Amino acid sequence: MKSAEELVVDQHLHATEIARFHSHVVCGPTASDCDIWIGAIGKDGYGRFYLTRAGSGVCVRPHRYALAIVSGVVAAGVLGLHECDNPVCVKVADATEPRQHVVSGTQGDNMERMARMRRGGGRNKLRRFDSRGVRRDRSVALREAVRHGWDGDAVQAALLGDQPMLW
Ligand SMILES: [Zn+2]
Repeated sequence: MKSAEELVVDQHLHATEIARFHSHVVCGPTASDCDIWIGAIGKDGYGRFYLTRAGSGVCVRPHRYALAIVSGVVAAGVLGLHECDNPVCVKVADATEPRQHVVSGTQGDNMERMARMRRGGGRNKLRRFDSRGVRRDRSVALREAVRHGWDGDAVQAALLGDQPMLW
């Protein structure tokens, strides 16, 4: 997947595509809740969104696409990072919100962030999500929890999984 190429999303030119994107998203009821992608989910636990650019099919990560809706373009090499640690979250919160979700950053930012979380005692959580299979299971469980509308209890259960979580 060419996830780090430049991604342009124009509100007018891509209006139909943006509407299709939103049809695959269930929004949490409050600003601190995630907006959850309910479209295709890859083996890595991250979503997949299929577009056409210059006549060719392109597969992008939905959270990176969400950044492009807001900013119009996400430059090559810039990734969407999850401050909320939820791979299927596509919420781009206003910078003034205390709880951030998808933010833009580089691979270097991502490594720094992961190291920071390890130092902060999030080691168990990281070990858990280092596993692609476990991460995918949780993403799929979250999708099922909101497929027919936001179900707070089901979301909580999916987030918690089979062992206590720190968030
Ligand atoms: Zn989130």
